[in-house]
Amino acid sequence: MSDDETVEEYLFKIVIIGDSAVGKSNLLSRFARNEFKAHSKATIGVEFQTQSVEIDGKEVKAQIWDTAGQERFRAVTSAYYRGAFGALLVYDISRRATFDNVARWLDELNCKFYTLFHIVYHESKFAAHSDTTVARMLVGNKCDLENTREVSLDEGKSLAESEGLFFIETSALDSTNVWTAFEIVIREIYNNVS
Ligand code: GDP
Ligand code: MG
Repeated sequence: MSDDETVEEYLFKIVIIGDSAVGKSNLLSRFARNEFKAHSKATIGVEFQTQSVEIDGKEVKAQIWDTAGQERFRAVTSAYYRGAFGALLVYDISRRATFDNVARWLDELNCKFYTLFHIVYHESKFAAHSDTTVARMLVGNKCDLENTREVSLDEGKSLAESEGLFFIETSALDSTNVWTAFEIVIREIYNNVS
């Protein structure tokens, strides 16, 4: 078979985390189905959706996982993070408490990923991705709520910078930057693994 006939397939798992009601489920439904729900129910059970993005002429599939009303700290199980190559950490720009909690979500992310990679490292000498950097993006959602904003763009930016995260403000309601947010993370993962 010549190189031309080689079909490369990419499927990346990405997780969305952050406080309750920051808009995680709506970011996902906007990205995966271009839908928004004004009165979304809390997700029950773990749920994921897939969406394909074209990167460098290749089809890259993202399998995006949404927390299932487990937004209390340490309630999100390791299984949720297992195999993930990227994470969107979401807060609500109109509720400062959700921004204040970002540090705790980061701790949890770092701790759970560290545990997983540690296990992989011990179980297999051939673990391909035991030291893979997880593409992490801080997302300030609900940027349509400018009138009730409690967290400035600069605060978001500088937190992301100090923690080494990508940063973007989005609105699942009016679609601002939603596609871009996911695309940046997917592209970064693609660059990490290819
Ligand atoms: P989750 O608990 O993080 O999954 O949050 P949801 O996606 O269920 O959203 C919680 C509430 O915020 C719902 O009432 C949504 O309609 C609303 N919401 C989500 N995203 C946005 C947004 O970008 N702008 C505004 N104004 N409301 C949003
Ligand atoms: Mg939800």
